[in-house]
Amino acid sequence: MMNQELQQEPKFHELELPDACMACGGPIAARFTSSGATGVCLACRRISALSVARSGDGINVVQLPAGEA
Ligand SMILES: [Zn+2]
Repeated sequence: MMNQELQQEPKFHELELPDACMACGGPIAARFTSSGATGVCLACRRISALSVARSGDGINVVQLPAGEA
């Protein structure tokens, strides 16, 4: 299972986003990549594309609707 591999790799910074899943409202684990970020729901395993932007206080993560298709 790819999802299990994701959780075993400590190389990438991960950020947990509570209640962020569009499908079930569960927590999403966001992984940052060179091109942005990918989120995996910890509850239903839905994978979604995330947009990451730095704001004044820290990092702002937005789920991209395009990940739905
Ligand atoms: Zn979910």
